Order: sequence, then structure tokens, then C-alpha cells
Amino acid sequence: MQSNYDIAIIGGGMVGASMAASLADTPLEVLLVDAAEYSPSPLAQDYDMRVSAITVASQRFFQSLGVWDAIMATRAAAFRQMHVWEHNSAASIHFDGAEIGADVLGHIIENRVIQQALLDKVQHADNISFADNTRITAMHSGTANQQSLSFDNDQSCSCKLVVGADGSHSKVRSLAGIQTHGWRYDQSAIVATVRTEHAHKQTAWQCFLDDGPLAFLPLQDNLCSIVWSCRPEQAQELMQLSKEQFEQQLTQAFEYRLGQVSLCSERGVFPLQLQYVDQYVKPGIALIGDAAHSIHPLAGQGVNLGLLDAACLADVLRDGMDRHKEPGAYAQLRRYERWRKGDNLGMMFVMDAFKRLFTTRSRPLQIVRNSGIRATDSLAPLKSLIMQSAAGMRGELPSMIRNVKPS
Ligand SMILES: Cc1cc2nc3c(=O)[nH]c(=O)nc-3n(C[C@H](O)[C@H](O)[C@H](O)COP(=O)(O)OP(=O)(O)OC[C@H]3O[C@@H](n4cnc5c(N)ncnc54)[C@H](O)[C@@H]3O)c2cc1C
Repeated sequence: MQSNYDIAIIGGGMVGASMAASLADTPLEVLLVDAAEYSPSPLAQDYDMRVSAITVASQRFFQSLGVWDAIMATRAAAFRQMHVWEHNSAASIHFDGAEIGADVLGHIIENRVIQQALLDKVQHADNISFADNTRITAMHSGTANQQSLSFDNDQSCSCKLVVGADGSHSKVRSLAGIQTHGWRYDQSAIVATVRTEHAHKQTAWQCFLDDGPLAFLPLQDNLCSIVWSCRPEQAQELMQLSKEQFEQQLTQAFEYRLGQVSLCSERGVFPLQLQYVDQYVKPGIALIGDAAHSIHPLAGQGVNLGLLDAACLADVLRDGMDRHKEPGAYAQLRRYERWRKGDNLGMMFVMDAFKRLFTTRSRPLQIVRNSGIRATDSLAPLKSLIMQSAAGMRGELPSMIRNVKPS
């Protein structure tokens, strides 16, 4: 570790690593730090249980960063359609990329495949140092707009800008004294890889059950990644079932849409929350990704919003460099905050409203919801709008997404 950097990015998850990759080969000296030990490994035969639905906008960002081909060559599965319906009801919506002239609606990719492609890029960049197995422990604002950082391995450095990309329990955020708001949902999500009897037809399936959504995200062959959101106590019960009992409950809950379902991996469970900050930036400090916002996974938007944060902050910093501004200058960081905060909050509260609408026990609201689903399915312009928003291709896009030609 050097004693001085222009930018220190804390957190080398998908968002922090993409932030670092977006600054590769610039004149900036960058440090990327991650608490976990990183050892690149050959692809395991079995899918990792943590996958993300990656939007077209995020795909373009990865293309800009030069990592998309490596991701595709490792393992990724495109989905071309989405089918959403309500349990025990005839109401459903079908989205087909062809309706908006899109070949794909997105890709399902293991988180570790994305992170490895990004870290590989970072490690080949002359201007970036990567310190794994290293946790930030202290941060002080010094003179001349310098931040002093200390780490748990007794190393320290100073920098002009600290980017907090260290996830929902962000240490950078707490060291900066930035408060969070939000609430824990009365839901946890079970994730696992399953094999289905019938072909998934490159379709992302989502059934709204009484206690939360159950998604089947298509992988290769007849494999799917499931995200089953339900009450925390129900999640604990489901986790304790035998493999055969779990398969039976899952197959039934999914209404036999893809036939018998068999489990191919361990099950993992994640508590769900909505969390946001009012302040994305302070002089010399910026938060991106889950450090700034955590969202219900029902529309698979969390990391995609974080990747947009990284692409927008990179735009602002490159623009600042052209105008000889320091990376930590508050005015330009505020530009990043204004760009991203409204969009992230908007997406967060739309997802929150969906979550509430689909778990309501109120009969009048259930009737409104049912009619809304039917009406939406028959309104082509509204469906196009929803598909474009879900693809992340609406609003003011950063140059690393805007300037990429569709592949
Ligand atoms: C069940 C589930 C399903 C989801 N599905 C989707 C989906 O389909 N699509 C989607 O877009 N999103 C999805 N999400 C959300 C997505 O997983 C998160 O938004 C995303 O992982 C956030 O990325 P991040 O890099 O900001 O944070 P993280 O992934 O949390 O990474 C933070 C990094 O910081 C490091 N770190 C932490 N503390 C320190 C420290 N003190 N010092 C140094 N380093 C530190 C960690 O080691 C880690 O590498 C899902 C979430 C859940 C729970």
C-alpha cells in the first residue's frame, strides 16, 4: 500500500470493483480495499446460489469496462421473457423483449462471476492497487482536503476521495456519521439452485404468493435460481425441511408451472430490508451501491442501481479531471448525489409499494390489484414503459452506458 492515493474505494463487491474498473488507465492513483480474502478460482461445476438479474444497462456498462466478454465466456444465461402472476388467480402479465425490439430482457449471472471478471480487470490496471483481506477501521478528515484511513492490518494511507462501496452495513458510512433510514421487512428470502421438469423457456417467472413473491430465474439447461420471499418464521421452517419435503412445498407453491422441482444446491436465507441515506456525499466522501440504498429483491434491481451509481460517479470524476478539479471536491460530488438519489429513491418506493400491494389482506385492494394486472397486460405502451424502466434504459444515462452500441 502506498502512503497517498487520489481515490480509495472501500469494498470490492460487484459495485466497488466496477467503480475501480471504471477508473482503470486514468491518471488517478486508485486503491481498492476489500475485507474478504480474494482467490480467483476456476469455475465450479455447480452454480453458486448468489446470482443477479443483470439489466441491459448494466450489461452495457460491463461492455464499456471490457469485462462483458469474459463474463459471457464464463457463465451467464439470457432471459427473453418475463411472466408474472398472482397465486390462485387468473391475473397475469407477460413481458416479451420482442415487443420493445430487444433480443434479451437481461441475463442471470452468478455474483462471483461478475466480481471475478471485474477484479481481474482491476489487477491488470497500472494505476490501481488492490488490497484484499483488509478492513477499514478509522477515517479522519485532515487538512488540504485529505482523508486519512487506517486498516486492521496496521497499514494506513491518505487520499482525496473515499468511495464507500462496503455494502449495507457500511463502515465508511458510519465513520462518516451518515445516518440511515428504513425498516426491516417482515420477510426473508430463501435462495437455491433447482432443476425443473419442464423447460424454463428462457423466461423469468414470478408468482406472487400470499406472503411474498417466489421467483424462478432461468440458468442453463433446465436449471433455475429461486428467490422465495416469505415471513421469517416460515423461511426458518422451510430451511429445516428435508430436501424432499422442501422440493414438494416448492413445487406446490409454484403451482407445478415447470413440473416437479428438484433441489441442486444448499439453501441460503437472507433477511430483507429497505434502507437509504439522505446524504450520499460529504466533502471527500461518496457512498455507492448498498452502502447508500438496499431494496427488496422482487424486481432484481439492487445491484443494477449500484452499478448505475458507479457509472455516474465515474462520469462526474472524469468530467472533473478534464476541468482540473480535485476528486473529492464537494460541488462535483453533489452532482453525483443529485443524479442518483432521486432515481434510487423512486425505484425503492415503487418496489416497496409493490411489496405492500401484493401482501395486503385487504379484499378491496386485492380486487384493485387484480384489475390492475389485467389492465397492464393489455396495455402495450405501458408494458413497453415498464420493460424499459426494468432494463435501466430510461432517464439520464451515464456515458459508459449511453455510448455503447447494442450488441
Ligand atoms: C436474495 C437476494 C437476491 C438479490 N437478487 C438481485 C438481483 O437479481 N438483481 C440485483 O440487481 N440485485 C439483487 N440483489 C441485491 C444485490 O445482491 C445487492 O444490491 C448487491 O450485492 C450490492 O452490491 P455492493 O457491491 O454494493 O455490496 P456488497 O455485495 O455487500 O459488497 C460489499 C463489499 O464490501 C466489503 N466490505 C464490507 N465491509 C468492509 C470493510 N469494513 N472494509 C473493507 N471492505 C469491506 C465486503 O467484503 C464486500 O465485498 C439481491 C439481494 C438479495 C438479498
